Amino acid sequence: MTDVVVAGAGLIGLSVAWRAAQRGLSVTVVDDAPGGGASRAAAGMLAPVSEAGYGEEALLRLCQASLERYPAFLGELAAATGRDVVLRPAGTLVVGFDDDDARALADLHGFHVELGLEVHRLTGREARRREPSLTPRVRTAVHVAGDLSVDPRELHPVLLAAAEAAGVRLVRARAAGLLTGDGRACGLALEGGGEVRAGAVVLALGAHSGALPGAPTVPVRPVKGQILRLRGAAGLLDGTVRALVRGRSVYLVPQGDDGLVVGATVEERGFDATVTAGGVHDLLHDAIEVVPGVTELELVETLARWRPGTPDNAPVLGSTDVPGLVLASGHHRNGVLLTPLTGELVADLLVSGETPALAAPFDVSRFG
Ligand SMILES: Cc1cc2nc3c(=O)[nH]c(=O)nc-3n(C[C@H](O)[C@H](O)[C@H](O)COP(=O)(O)OP(=O)(O)OC[C@H]3O[C@@H](n4cnc5c(N)ncnc54)[C@H](O)[C@@H]3O)c2cc1C
Repeated sequence: MTDVVVAGAGLIGLSVAWRAAQRGLSVTVVDDAPGGGASRAAAGMLAPVSEAGYGEEALLRLCQASLERYPAFLGELAAATGRDVVLRPAGTLVVGFDDDDARALADLHGFHVELGLEVHRLTGREARRREPSLTPRVRTAVHVAGDLSVDPRELHPVLLAAAEAAGVRLVRARAAGLLTGDGRACGLALEGGGEVRAGAVVLALGAHSGALPGAPTVPVRPVKGQILRLRGAAGLLDGTVRALVRGRSVYLVPQGDDGLVVGATVEERGFDATVTAGGVHDLLHDAIEVVPGVTELELVETLARWRPGTPDNAPVLGSTDVPGLVLASGHHRNGVLLTPLTGELVADLLVSGETPALAAPFDVSRFG
């Protein structure tokens, strides 16, 4: 018997587990492929501002609150494990090519200014001064100095090590269903037999959170994303570049010494993990339009995974109608960004039984 069992050892499940263990709870995490889900695919942009959409102001505030925590979060992880995860300091440049893009960027800039966000409009020339490898066809840009990035593949093992050092037990198995007794969640049944009994269950199965047998239906669906990793990009870009190329959005995120991540498709295809010729073609084509030097890079990996999407693109955090069952899912495009704050909020809830104020707008009851 453990105080808490967390279903899922992606970035979200691990951050919850780590923070809960730090608060003195005994914690077990169940996952047959820790870190093999969306957390493996993610580009690692920490981009509350450039990801902000109209009508998503509450999500923007949550994302900003999480980004503010990132430096301290990584500092604590380094203290716990002796391993550094790099927070890339260069911001994000959103670039446009034609009149339509210029209008769209002007609207976006107006929206950002209205929200009091710190963003700067640049001419094409100013943009290229910042990122000389951009195509000369770039005519306009917005620079978001505060939108940063990390490498999720660097972060995940460090978070796992910190969680284990704090006493979290990892069970490498698949959760087959939620166990309930007297109307309460009381653990997980494991595939192939066995179970983990617990005082509380946290559902952090990413895109798979929607349909754990025995659990209430959660409005989380898989949103497929194909993404590419390239090598040989040392010095090509300083920070993240995002663009719309003929209506399709593409981003280029430098990682490590010479890596570049190019993403990502957005597809409603259920749990389809196929990497398609069209998906790879479109991403490479669009990336080369923005930064022609991408042609020279080595393509080292193609991957498809599923964002945990919700009807309003915001996460579902907090209690459910089943006492003892807590949700930490639905982080959609922002799960890497929301990792520090989600762990903190859900651990608060597990310890106090009260929903923290920051999490309240993201209660699953908002969907009726
Ligand atoms: C292409 C792409 C690019 C992205 N880029 C960014 C980005 O730049 N910035 C950003 O902030 N976010 C980004 N995201 C979103 C981000 O990856 C997710 O929001 C985040 O990883 C969700 O984390 P998670 O822990 O909830 O889910 P996951 O990482 O998917 O983890 C879920 C875990 O549950 C496990 N699991 C599933 N079913 C079971 C079961 N039955 N029993 C036991 N274990 C199970 C899986 O093995 C997995 O380890 C991107 C996503 C994609 C797909």
